[in-house]
Amino acid sequence: MPEGHTLHRLALDLADRFAGRVVTASSPQGRFSESASLVDGTHLVGARAWGKHLFLEFAHERIVHVHLGLYGKFLIADAPAPPPVGQVRLRLVAQGEPPAYADLRGATACELITREEEGLLLDRLGPDPLREDADWTAAWARVHRSRSPIATLLMDQSVLAGVGNVYRAEVLFRHRLDPMRPGSSLRRAGFAAVWDDLAVLLADGVRRGRIDTVRVPHPEARRDRVAEARPGRSRVWVYRRQGEDCFVCGTTVRTQVLAARNLFWCPRCQPRHRSRSSRVA
Ligand SMILES: [Zn+2]
Repeated sequence: MPEGHTLHRLALDLADRFAGRVVTASSPQGRFSESASLVDGTHLVGARAWGKHLFLEFAHERIVHVHLGLYGKFLIADAPAPPPVGQVRLRLVAQGEPPAYADLRGATACELITREEEGLLLDRLGPDPLREDADWTAAWARVHRSRSPIATLLMDQSVLAGVGNVYRAEVLFRHRLDPMRPGSSLRRAGFAAVWDDLAVLLADGVRRGRIDTVRVPHPEARRDRVAEARPGRSRVWVYRRQGEDCFVCGTTVRTQVLAARNLFWCPRCQPRHRSRSSRVA
């Protein structure tokens, strides 16, 4: 599933090509035809993302809400639109020059909503580290009073918006945190550091258009080990590296299923957290 960096990148790319321009909107597949006709021929005011949600605002406060889900793809191109291929739910074509079009396929959500409905949707989402207006203390308040594992909390979009399976594995590794550690056992400064790092990692993902967390320095990583990482693969510290050596300590990276998603961690860099009560016992 695309993580927050993908949606922010799409918002930038769409705004870049379509904002301020009159847009032809259609639904070649037919499922969004009625709504597309309501924004067709109006101009795109702007595009923005919050976590894994994308909002395209057209004139008259008409907002198209998109959630890509597992299989959704938004293809954006600087070219005249070719005849649509496959199940294109929404097609946007910029009128005039330069040519640009965008095709949305396979999204979980593509719906026309009002500003009020957008507000209700955002109320259910936690702060997004990529947004300048994000208040990290709102996420901290939820983490601090929860006994759930930090690995679960980081992926809960109502706690914090935008983090998926890759970024959670990476940020927990970078902060030497046991994925199973209860949120309530974290310190405020420790969580603040995780938040700040997520903002850096996600912003790097927006710039590159892909996840390459190894490029963001880690104070203890061994260069020779990092250099050994097989080229052509996504460059990450632990995500899907089970059975391979940790870039910091050489221990074998492990995996385990938690809430139907795979966790990846280094058992040495991220030792099991023992609560104060269990230490006394
Ligand atoms: Zn390690």
